[in-house]
Amino acid sequence: MLGTVEVDPWRFCRDAQSWEIRSDVAGFPRLAHEFTQGALFCRVAGRADPRGGLSLQVSIGGEVGLTCQRCLGSLSYTVGLERTLYLARNEAELERLDALPDSDAIQPGERLDLVELVEDEVLLSLPLVPMHAEGECSLRGV
Ligand SMILES: [Zn+2]
Repeated sequence: MLGTVEVDPWRFCRDAQSWEIRSDVAGFPRLAHEFTQGALFCRVAGRADPRGGLSLQVSIGGEVGLTCQRCLGSLSYTVGLERTLYLARNEAELERLDALPDSDAIQPGERLDLVELVEDEVLLSLPLVPMHAEGECSLRGV
């Protein structure tokens, strides 16, 4: 099981640090139960733009197995995520950054757990009710 990977998010971005990991899904504490199998490659890179904005570039990819909610068979699913998360210092900044087109913001404290961040992004991206496509499911005409 992966442990926590805590960083100071502000310094992580200012210093343009990066972190990456390739792990079986069973290694992620909050993903282990979502998937039947698979592995994920995750990369988080800090970035400071010239105007002082700090952001995390999050890339996550891999092939995983979900459980079809219609036939309960295995369903292979491709995770392919590219996200930019801006760091907000306070509530007002969070609202302002979130309102920009194609922008997502988080308001981290002094510490941020990168494993948890990656898990959140993966969980948010999953289909609400995973199901095989019509014709590929072993249960038909339900
Ligand atoms: Zn199915």
